[in-house]
Amino acid sequence: MKAISLWQPWATLMALDEKRIETRTRPIGYRGPLAICATKRSPIFCGALIQDEPFKTVLARHNINRFNQLPRACILCIVDLYDCVPVEELRGQRANVWPEHELEFGNFSVSVLGGPYAWLTRNVRPLKVPLPVIGQRGLFEVVCVCRVCGCTDECACEGGCSRIEFDLCSRCVDLKPLTIHHLPLTASEAMPCH
Ligand SMILES: [Zn+2]
Ligand SMILES: [Zn+2]
Repeated sequence: MKAISLWQPWATLMALDEKRIETRTRPIGYRGPLAICATKRSPIFCGALIQDEPFKTVLARHNINRFNQLPRACILCIVDLYDCVPVEELRGQRANVWPEHELEFGNFSVSVLGGPYAWLTRNVRPLKVPLPVIGQRGLFEVVCVCRVCGCTDECACEGGCSRIEFDLCSRCVDLKPLTIHHLPLTASEAMPCH
């Protein structure tokens, strides 16, 4: 599955469905499911940022008050990337189709050089437990292993299957797993993000 890394708190805001538009300097042609990862490190200013509005109020709604409650170096959710347009084109669109503070959670100031670009996402599916991953710059691939049968996209179930959740394939969707194997998380990384 394709994945991108976001600094905190933006990665968690996306998992909480408080942010659906990722603004980047480059456009993207890819459409489809996209895993949202939180980076291992975020710049130092991010820690202070979550005490500023609207971050403070929005995160407090989800019982997040401290930066170290935000998971790091893990996949938090899957979204569907369905379009990419220069932020200019979003002007005049009804803001009420987006979460309340969407425009404050991205870079919507138009550059003379063109862009930035709005990567439009919808249909967020938070992972019940964030999955540890080391992110990379730009778009990268993460391997989705089915938590029930262990299949992957490259090595699918006999007869074929697809990803229903990040770690659940279409063949196993109705089965109750006996055990769910996740890599151990430290207490601070395991904070819920939903
Ligand atoms: Zn499976
Ligand atoms: Zn499968």
